[in-house]
Amino acid sequence: MKRLLLSALLLVSLHPAEARLSPLATPPDWSRLNVYQGTISRTDFVDLLDRVYAPNGAWHDYITVTEAGAVIRTSGEPFVLRFAPDRASAKAPVNSWRPRGGLPHEEPGKPLEGLRIAIDPGHIGGPWAQMEERWFKIGNTKPVTEGDMTLKVAKLLVPRLEALGAEVMLTRSKAWPVTSTRPGQLTKAARASLEDKKADITAESLQKESERLFYRVAEIRRRAKLVNETFRPDLVLCLHFNAEAWGDEKNPKLLDENHLHFLVTGSFSASELDYEDQRFEMLTKLLNRSLSEEVAVTNALSKSMTAQTGLPPYLYRQANAIRINGNPYLWARNLLANRLFTCPVVYVEPYVMNNKLVFDRIQAGDYDGRKEFGGAMRKSIYREYADGIVDGLLAYYSKRSL
Ligand SMILES: [Zn+2]
Repeated sequence: MKRLLLSALLLVSLHPAEARLSPLATPPDWSRLNVYQGTISRTDFVDLLDRVYAPNGAWHDYITVTEAGAVIRTSGEPFVLRFAPDRASAKAPVNSWRPRGGLPHEEPGKPLEGLRIAIDPGHIGGPWAQMEERWFKIGNTKPVTEGDMTLKVAKLLVPRLEALGAEVMLTRSKAWPVTSTRPGQLTKAARASLEDKKADITAESLQKESERLFYRVAEIRRRAKLVNETFRPDLVLCLHFNAEAWGDEKNPKLLDENHLHFLVTGSFSASELDYEDQRFEMLTKLLNRSLSEEVAVTNALSKSMTAQTGLPPYLYRQANAIRINGNPYLWARNLLANRLFTCPVVYVEPYVMNNKLVFDRIQAGDYDGRKEFGGAMRKSIYREYADGIVDGLLAYYSKRSL
């Protein structure tokens, strides 16, 4: 067994690769995976790769599996992960976050006591909404800006979850970036990113890419640092509103489609795994076993959000997302905003903002009680969203000492 592992190691180390990194990524420290030595059996490791993290053989060029362990390609020496002989003898991984079973007992009237939860209101909003392409406007109506809407829901959630005993942290509390980096400082990185994508480099494409690296990469990396190093929560909830392609932002298409889904990290492609940082981040998520917690929370949230919103599940038509664990609302997809947070992460995607009825509900803003939309009496869209989240968290975390 040992000889097999060694020869695989030699084979891989004959071809050391240059560290290829995603924009603004730092080279990973592979020794950090040593805490996961002996924590997973070969069968479970391969099953998680095939079923969730890197389906269709996407991992085969980067990871060599032998009976004793996995040899992982890095730009330096290959990293060797030893397997547990079987599931029963696998050591439990040591993590900063606690699964439901590791939380302290709840106190009377405080069903979420002890839970540390970080809420990430997706996007930035405010004066940044147009740059981040989360903005559309019809005539003289209020512009629809996802970053402001997710913040509204987050702010409704904080006092409610705190009253139930949870400790709640927000990655941002206003419509302003958390990162201090601005597009003007990212021209060099933008050029490298365009070259890596083999895209044309013009003044316009450089400007666009610098902006994208600012709001979609630097901003998310900063939030992840905050969550992983400072907050260290048991769960991250990424709040979003979905949309279908709306075309011209000043003359957007309104549609009849409306849906809901949840994302966990997974479905890495071979070309994504070619980036050393993504390969490392995928393995960190796989080995720390946040998936079982993510699936359990999502199963509760998909029931409660469906009960509140009545929305049908979204169906991805692209190959970059896969349905997992038999829940029609649950998809695995590789996003910077879910793979970078090392603890369990559930990414919530309800409502199509350019659905006709949803658009009317957004225009109505937040309000008490109910108003009529399309013949039905509805809560404000923000309260309905927040109620769905609270109900789901209660269903999953309460009565845990029974
Ligand atoms: Zn979003």
